[in-house]
This record gives sequence, structure tokens and C-alpha cells, in this order.
Amino acid sequence: MKNISILGATGSIGTQALSVVDEFPNSFNITALSCFADIDTLAPQIEKYRPQVVCVMDPEAAQQLKERIGTKYPNMEIIPGMEGLLAAATCPGTDMLLTAVSGMVGLRPTLAAIDCGIDIALANKETLVTGGAIVMDAVAKKGVSLVPVDSEHSAIFQCLFGNDHDALKRVIITASGGPFRGKKLADLKDVTLEQALKHPSWSMGKKITIDSATLMNKGLEVIEAKWLFDLKQDQIDVVVHPQSIIHSMVEYKDRAVIAQLGLPDMALPIQIAFFHPIRVENTKPSLELSEIGTLTFEKPDKETFRCLTLAYEALAAGGTMAAALNAANEISVARFLNREIGFLDIPKINEAVMNRHENIQNASLEDVLAVDAWARDIAKGLN
Ligand code: NDP
Ligand code: MG
Repeated sequence: MKNISILGATGSIGTQALSVVDEFPNSFNITALSCFADIDTLAPQIEKYRPQVVCVMDPEAAQQLKERIGTKYPNMEIIPGMEGLLAAATCPGTDMLLTAVSGMVGLRPTLAAIDCGIDIALANKETLVTGGAIVMDAVAKKGVSLVPVDSEHSAIFQCLFGNDHDALKRVIITASGGPFRGKKLADLKDVTLEQALKHPSWSMGKKITIDSATLMNKGLEVIEAKWLFDLKQDQIDVVVHPQSIIHSMVEYKDRAVIAQLGLPDMALPIQIAFFHPIRVENTKPSLELSEIGTLTFEKPDKETFRCLTLAYEALAAGGTMAAALNAANEISVARFLNREIGFLDIPKINEAVMNRHENIQNASLEDVLAVDAWARDIAKGLN
């Protein structure tokens, strides 16, 4: 039995992770669950998995849940806010934390769990984009394992497994291209929220779906790969592969390229992280390439999808630049979702915040949190 805590249990990754738990009923026990405010989804999860700690980030929703539950689970704590997220992440007896919240709010609880010697299954890429140096340093110091759940990084992780890291030449991250693949700036001027939310191959939370439409998601993944696999910027390439069958590749110095393939389904990377380092049989359909037929590849259009270029620029700048970009992007995406700004305002605002940012090298956690707060404030006021 592995004891697992899930932050972001009500989201796309969180609910799929609980389906993986259901598929292997004798393998996992849930110690803690969290959500932002969706207590209608969380309440039946509590009933089914009986966690010791529950975090509902929003204090009003936390109070409503307490009233709804009454004295039904006397040994369970319901804690709102960051205090609750930290308590859920470090719940006693937890072997592995799945960080599946959306946004850099995952950074502090992930660090707290590492500090307690808890292994990490990381879906929340914003944690590494903002605090990559701090997190990987803590992972090395504490000797915990951090296994990526992001499908591309899970693929790279699998391709690297058992091979010599020094023989690695580069990683090649695949991108679906999102709903606007092939479009030019003029076509993107008036795209609607509904069009941006229609991802061609993956069903995900709203924030990452918009990030996929702008290619910011790929940019965040480039930065995530740098930290996870200790890479230099010129060792991280992106190729557009609309079928989403090859989840990513690695090239070794002898030019051998190893890829990981599979049907687009996040259950596999979640299962791999939960069971690492062993592989177990599941009930999913096999990939039949003859039914897929054609796999195609093209270069990403970094001019039209400027967010990808911004991510490479942030990577080159180092320090807190990626944290500033990430915070700006969290705000610009939230404003686009709120219909306050247009689609092309997202890269515009992100770039404006980067231009104003006074970069801090060798940043502490406090520096990162301060830059995050600063960048959010600026991004809220830009048009
Ligand atoms: P969702 O929006 O579907 O779910 C997010 C979860 O986090 C929900 O449980 C939500 O609670 C909670 N949450 C949101 N904001 C906060 C906050 N400020 N504080 C505390 N909890 C919060 O997102 P996804 O599951 O799609 O994505 C989660 C993470 O995984 C992201 O970092 C994403 O980039 C990454 N990822 C996702 C993939 C996918 O296929 N979905 C693939 C690869 C990576 P509530 O429901 O109450 O709002
Ligand atoms: Mg991904």
C-alpha cells in the first residue's frame, strides 16, 4: 500500500489519478485531498477515500463543506487556504504527493512535502517553471524521487531510464500545435474563448487548454524539462506532431533517437509515477499504429505563437525571469477566460511584464514569491 496525497483532486488530473487508484484497489490509500472551491466534486471523494486531511482553498467553501459534513468524520481535518495545502501536502504517513493544482500555488506545498522526505508525482509544471532551481536542489538534498506526470516529460523520463545521461544529446518535446495550428497572426486576432478552449487531442483544465492554444504550455514544458533533466537550452527542441501519439523523444550522441508512444491518455503517466520504478498491467486498449496510419511532424511557428519564444528567452535570462513570465501568463490567461482581453493580448501582456522585470539570479523562495506577486500586479493593470 502506497499512501498518496492529491492536491487538486477535483481537477482533470486529480480525477484521473483517482481513477488510477480505483483500478488498483490494493495498491493505494489516500491520505489527503484538496480543491479550490468545488466541494460538490470533493464531498463524494471524501466519502469514498476517507482522507485524514482535506484542504479547501477558498475559506467560504471550506466553511460550507464543514457545515455539510458535520460530525460525520471526527478524525478528518478540513483546513482552508495555504495552511491547508501545506497540511495536505505533508499529511503524516504520506509516501507520495501528487501535485495537480493549476498554477504556481503548487510550489510551496511541493517544497514542504520534499522537506518531509515525501516523493513527488509532479503534474503541476508551474512549480518547476517558477522554482525549478530551489525544488531540484531540495530533491537532491532530501534524496526523494520526483517523477513527472506531464505526458512529454513522462515520455522523456521513460526514454532516459536505464541509459547514460552523459550520452544524451538533446530532448525533442512533441506539441499537438493546439486548436490554431497553421493559423497566422491575422487569423488569431478575433478568435473566441470557445474556439481557444477546443483542444484537438486532449481534454484538460481551462488554464492549460488556453496555454496549449497560445503554445505557452510548450514553452512552460521547455523550462520544466530544463530542471527535470538538467539540460542546457540548446538541448531542448520542440516539434509539432498533431496526432499526439509520440509523447516525446530523446536523441543520444550516437544519433539514436528513442521515443515513447501511446494513445493520448493521462492515466498512463499518472500510473507510471504512482508505481515507479515498476510497470504494471492495466486494462487500457493497445496502441494499433496501423489504425492510426500517419504520424506527421512540423516546425513550431514561433513568430505567430510568441509565447514559445518568450519561454526560451526566459530560460536564457535565468533567475526569476521564468517566474515573472509564469505569473504574467496566469493573470493574462485568467483575464482572457474572463473575456476581459483578446487572445493576442496574452503574449503582449506576458512580454510587457518580462520587459519590466528586474531579474534576480540565485533567487530564494522569498524572492520567487515576491516576483510572482509583483508580476501579477503589473499584468492585472496592462491592456
Ligand atoms: P484543472 O483546472 O482541471 O484542476 C485544477 C485543480 O486545482 C482543481 O482541483 C482546482 O480546484 C485546484 N485549484 C485551482 N486553482 C487553485 C488554487 N489557486 N489553489 C488551490 N487549488 C487550486 O487543471 P488540470 O488538472 O488540467 O491541471 C493541473 C496541473 O497539471 C496544471 O499545472 C497543468 O499544467 C498540469 N497538467 C495537466 C494536464 C492535463 O491533461 N489536464 C497534462 C499535463 C499537465 P477546483 O476544482 O475547486 O477549482
Ligand atoms: Mg504536456
